[in-house]
Amino acid sequence: MVRFEQVAKRYPGGIQALGEVSFGLARGEMVFLTGHSGAGKSTLLKLIALLERPSRGRVLFDGRNVGRISRRQIPWLRRQIGIVFQDHSLLSDRRVFDNVALPLVIAGVAYPEIRKRVRAALDKVGLLEKERMYPPMLSGGQQQRVGIARAIVAKPPLLLADEPTGNLDPELSAELMQFFVSLNELGTTVLIASHDLDLIRRLQRRVLVLKDGALADDVPARQVAAP
Ligand code: ADP
Ligand code: ADP
Repeated sequence: MVRFEQVAKRYPGGIQALGEVSFGLARGEMVFLTGHSGAGKSTLLKLIALLERPSRGRVLFDGRNVGRISRRQIPWLRRQIGIVFQDHSLLSDRRVFDNVALPLVIAGVAYPEIRKRVRAALDKVGLLEKERMYPPMLSGGQQQRVGIARAIVAKPPLLLADEPTGNLDPELSAELMQFFVSLNELGTTVLIASHDLDLIRRLQRRVLVLKDGALADDVPARQVAAP
């Protein structure tokens, strides 16, 4: 589904965030991406979603070169990918319902369908009764779950999450991970950047390890040691 071929990313100003990274992500996998702060995890996720473009190498999504797709094709790519950000980037002056509806509004989905899908997504994250609230009225964990509802509302085949448990206590973190597991079991491919090693070990999935912008390790699920 996703393939990196010797991908390098240098930001303006000269910072080399990634160098020569190659790996593949198969449809149906649930994979963790770990590494120290500044290792390049966010950059890697952004390259998949075309929030950044590679400086060298190729990023392929379903065999298409993401770095080369035309402006006209970007909406197609965005529909394939849901993203959960650490800071959940919700609009604080829009109700929970409208925040979650955003990707569907952008995609031009008709209102009755939007209503149905938003409520289904909010129900999945256990926040249906909060649909009329504004994000600042919710706890950090609830806001994070609104961000997740927004990421999954359009049922993207690939879900990317950047430190999704960063602001959650251990119990909520474990719950959230179980939620990702259930999405994965229903067919969504999931790639999660996280430095929570305990959590990663507990789930026993494949782990990609970044170190200073290079892929230092690619540990298959069966070799991930339990905590
Ligand atoms: P991680 O997610 O593992 O913490 P990042 O991908 O955020 O790593 O960052 C990798 C490196 O790229 C860091 O040195 C960071 O400071 C740098 N970097 C990230 N985003 C930008 C940017 N927009 N402009 C310049 N440098 C950046
Ligand atoms: P066809 O050529 O038979 O239309 P494609 O597989 O090329 O089939 O395209 C299927 C869909 O994917 C279309 O909606 C098209 O706009 C989109 N698409 C095609 N090429 C790319 C690409 N490089 N990047 C993103 N989207 C693409």
